[in-house]
Amino acid sequence: MRYNLHTHTYRCNHASGDDREYVEAAIKAGMKTLGFADHCPQFFPTDYYSNFRMRPEKAAEYVESLRALKKEYRDDIEILIGFETEYYPETFDKFRDFIAGLDLDYMIMGQHFIHNEYDVPGYRASDPSCEDARQYVNQTLEGLRTGLFTYIAHPDILRHSDPVFYRELMKDYCSQLKEMDIPIEYNILGYRNKKWYPNPLFWQVAAETGNKVVLGYDAHEPGALLEKNNFDACMGYLNMLGITPARFSEIKNRKL
Ligand SMILES: [Zn+2]
Ligand SMILES: [Zn+2]
Repeated sequence: MRYNLHTHTYRCNHASGDDREYVEAAIKAGMKTLGFADHCPQFFPTDYYSNFRMRPEKAAEYVESLRALKKEYRDDIEILIGFETEYYPETFDKFRDFIAGLDLDYMIMGQHFIHNEYDVPGYRASDPSCEDARQYVNQTLEGLRTGLFTYIAHPDILRHSDPVFYRELMKDYCSQLKEMDIPIEYNILGYRNKKWYPNPLFWQVAAETGNKVVLGYDAHEPGALLEKNNFDACMGYLNMLGITPARFSEIKNRKL
């Protein structure tokens, strides 16, 4: 795997390093393709604004900076410009108009919330109800059906305390993702930072279902791209499950 499509920048307020440092780390790591997918600005009907994503007024400069690097480093590495974004049905039209003006290469879905994040208490629920868990799955599938997304990041971020219910739900989820030919991401950051995902139960189901899998660094600092031991451990785990991550050419780059 010589590509990574999940790279953040300082503009989301919780990542560090400048754009060039990510590019140079990727080259040093032997990558052929580096995709930036910083947390995309979202548009809310209230004065709520999340502080862990890029503000809309930073987006043009983000794209401009990466375009310059794309040109400068074209003989060394392919740079792709994208975003990681949520799917909030109520505000998606506004969002779509916004990204249409940016001429991006791709987008990945990173759904962190159920319903939305501006008027629902208990977002990122640590143990959502069965109804909310189903809503999460349906919501992401609805977003993916727009055809705007290259893959889904950390598809196993949803938590649930009932393993029987969870397994059934994920079985259905993985089958639908496979049918839609949406690759699922094994999130190296989750492994690295010992988060609750990657969830072994999910990956067991994914292996049984035969989903297309992508490894994503979800890099929030340039050095993460050089941590070979984390990459090797994740790759080893997937191989142990009988999963071979997709080559870059096997991923359809759903151009906007
Ligand atoms: Zn982040
Ligand atoms: Zn991310």
